[in-house]
Amino acid sequence: MKINVHAGHNPDGKPGSGVTGLIRESTEARKVSAEVIRQLRQSGHTVYDCTVDNGSGQRDVLKKIVAACNAHTVDLDVAIHFNAGASDPAGNGRSTGTEAYVYRLTGGAAAYAKRVCGEIAGLGFTNRGVKANQGLYVLKHTKAPAMLIECCFVDDKDDVNLYRAETMATAIVNGITGRVTGGSGGSETTLYRVQAGTFRVRENAIAMQSRLKEAGFEAVVTSERQE
Ligand SMILES: [Zn+2]
Repeated sequence: MKINVHAGHNPDGKPGSGVTGLIRESTEARKVSAEVIRQLRQSGHTVYDCTVDNGSGQRDVLKKIVAACNAHTVDLDVAIHFNAGASDPAGNGRSTGTEAYVYRLTGGAAAYAKRVCGEIAGLGFTNRGVKANQGLYVLKHTKAPAMLIECCFVDDKDDVNLYRAETMATAIVNGITGRVTGGSGGSETTLYRVQAGTFRVRENAIAMQSRLKEAGFEAVVTSERQE
């Protein structure tokens, strides 16, 4: 595939930077974007980095991003953002989660967006789903099918606890390429999970997750209702 990828907004410290909370959107979106680009290139895809670091303000950043995107003929435009508005700095035990925007739910990007949300939800984030939005500048003005991913919420402690730039990037890449269908959508496959414990109390699960992370393992907490 040929793909444009960019991190939203100007860098932190410049006019038109992204939202901030427990983490900063501009900084994290750049980390995720760089890793998405690295992984896609490693898999043989042609990727153009359309991130803009020198806009004079938000509007100028958007114009420059669109100009960079439209300079290439690609299969997909990918905008990487983080959300705000959860107002949960202490953590309430629930992820506010991930969502993605496309111009039209019937357009070419919607299937990718659905898969990306499914893959990110597979990391433990709440899946807020794919939404249509005709007002977002990048979606409106790019030529190729485009999706804008709001990875998770910068002001939700539960989201920030789950978030790691690398695993977020891998989920996005898996959603784009269909490399692994851990989430919803895609073709059928068998997945094998390694389980380290099952707990009735969420805190105990989080404690096990912390121990695993400290030991260097990727660990996610998932829940399932028992009848
Ligand atoms: Zn944003």
